Amino acid sequence: MQALVEKKLNIGTSGNVSVRTIEGMLITPTGINPALLLSEQIVAMDLDGQVAEDQLTPSSEWQMHADVYREKPEVNAIVHCHSPYATILACAHKSIPAVHYMVAAAGSHEIPLADYATFGSQELSQANLQALSGSQACLLANHGQLATGKNLERALKLAELVEEQAQCYWGTLAIGGPRLLDSQQMDEVLTAFADYGQQKPRTESTPDKKSDQTFRGKE
Ligand SMILES: [Zn+2]
Repeated sequence: MQALVEKKLNIGTSGNVSVRTIEGMLITPTGINPALLLSEQIVAMDLDGQVAEDQLTPSSEWQMHADVYREKPEVNAIVHCHSPYATILACAHKSIPAVHYMVAAAGSHEIPLADYATFGSQELSQANLQALSGSQACLLANHGQLATGKNLERALKLAELVEEQAQCYWGTLAIGGPRLLDSQQMDEVLTAFADYGQQKPRTESTPDKKSDQTFRGKE
């Protein structure tokens, strides 16, 4: 959470972060200023919402996180935040099209927009899952953004990238609109990212390429 604040991706107590565990997940508690958040305040819970005794109340968005872990086995970390440019686009009901080749780092041709639903609701969780069906990140209408990753570092990096691309798209809209990359050009980028991934030295703890979704091509 502190990293989100440092990177200006989060304002106040609005964002939340989780990582998958064997029992379920660790997730940030609700309503605590990230600057004051202590590691022992992070909430351990199962994916059905059972919280171990003596713990704080988990983020109101815990269900959205739990459902992603249930549906997407390759995801081990989730960052949700109300970063400024992503939120501007989400409030205008705009997804992020292929404005820049790095949009493909979300594993898709565009960063989709999930339908609006009340925060913390089952409906929002469903809308989020639907948007994530072909992408590793999405915007949440009238709300913010959500990014996933095989680990926390990847999820945080992707949240940062979503914000960068949102700013880029917002900027192009102000000067007459972008010239978008076409489908073939984006497929080439996705293929190049997949090749790039295979050439990387195996320095990460999880060597299973199949679980590495960040730079993996679209199937
Ligand atoms: Zn939120």
